[in-house]
Amino acid sequence: MGDITSNTAGSDDVLSELVADATGLAVDLTGWRRDLHQHPELGLDNPRTQDVIAKALKALGVPIRRGRAATWLAADIVGNPDGPTILLRADTDALPMTENTDEPFSSSIEGRAHTCGHDGHVAMLLGAARLLFARRDGLPGTVRLVFQPGEEGFAGAKVMLDEGILTEGLTTPVGAAFAIHVTPNAPAGFMATRPGPLMASADEFTVRVKGRGTHASMPHLGIDPMPAAAELVGALSTMVTRRIEAFDPAIVTVAHITGGTTHNVIPEQVLMEGTVRCVSAHTRDRVEELFAEVVHGVTAAHGCTAEIDYQRGYPVTINNEEMTGLVGDVCDRVLGRDRMFPLPSPVMGAEDWSYILERVPGAMAFLGVCPADIENFLEAPACHSDVMRLNEDALPLGAAMHAGVALEWLSRNS
Ligand SMILES: [Zn+2]
Repeated sequence: MGDITSNTAGSDDVLSELVADATGLAVDLTGWRRDLHQHPELGLDNPRTQDVIAKALKALGVPIRRGRAATWLAADIVGNPDGPTILLRADTDALPMTENTDEPFSSSIEGRAHTCGHDGHVAMLLGAARLLFARRDGLPGTVRLVFQPGEEGFAGAKVMLDEGILTEGLTTPVGAAFAIHVTPNAPAGFMATRPGPLMASADEFTVRVKGRGTHASMPHLGIDPMPAAAELVGALSTMVTRRIEAFDPAIVTVAHITGGTTHNVIPEQVLMEGTVRCVSAHTRDRVEELFAEVVHGVTAAHGCTAEIDYQRGYPVTINNEEMTGLVGDVCDRVLGRDRMFPLPSPVMGAEDWSYILERVPGAMAFLGVCPADIENFLEAPACHSDVMRLNEDALPLGAAMHAGVALEWLSRNS
């Protein structure tokens, strides 16, 4: 059992010194980030990244647990093993795209790039590991640091959950969770989040509108799927505005339509693909139900039939209110007052962090990393842009926030 003398883990003194300590680690943070940036890996298999992380953590001598079906890695910093456990997460994967920045450490692999800043996430969490390790004797519980591949569409978080990330090897199961995502579209060193829905669910659909092909000059001899598909695009938009509550919104986008081969043939079918985004489970269910009704109804009105393949992706990312409040308090004390920007509305992108937040109370917050040479942060190339860059000066602040949230939550819950 750990030697717990008092509940000082999250005291003001401890929190206020985190930024200074983290700034002392800036060279290492930048080094890790640039190394990963040059060697991006995709999907659920990030072995080199995992090795870089393992090496950095081994220097601390903390026990490491590796994933089986994916290259996730967890390390526990244990003060009192019988105390509560908080999970901190960094995602590790890059995107299948080519980087076009002039950075001296830009991606060395064509068609792979860290344009979502996950390289920075790893560096920040490795920094937090150092900060927390140095304070392990006063920890009233356990901090589980988790490095997760496969965020970009591969549901890596779900793999970790299936492999027991919340319980395996722990005396006390994970009771809270926190993650940071960087964004160049906020001033460097400022944070933003909100209680409740933070990011949208992301489902996708494929619809085949089936008619009967014929000569384009004699449409009455066949069944033309084209007008049915065209009407469907409008009908799906109208469905959203007329049948979904304005304050619990949805986005239904038809993003791809293919049909026909030449100017004088009515084709057999038209293929349509798109995405559905919602910010509540209720509306997500409702849209799926209405979608089928509208597709079948509109196509039937034209004598066509439709085949729908509707695939559910990441759920809505919902921040726990109490945890979001705690993150705000910690931000005030670690980064300074007025550093936390309350987001007025959710962001319609999606995150597999949502699977973790379905299971434990937790939160995600954005950290601004607008490059120093860009005056208006709204004009900075966003995450997923081929020229996305981040301001490395913000990385120690992210590390300090990770550590601060862990210390404060453990202090309040032990
Ligand atoms: Zn991301």
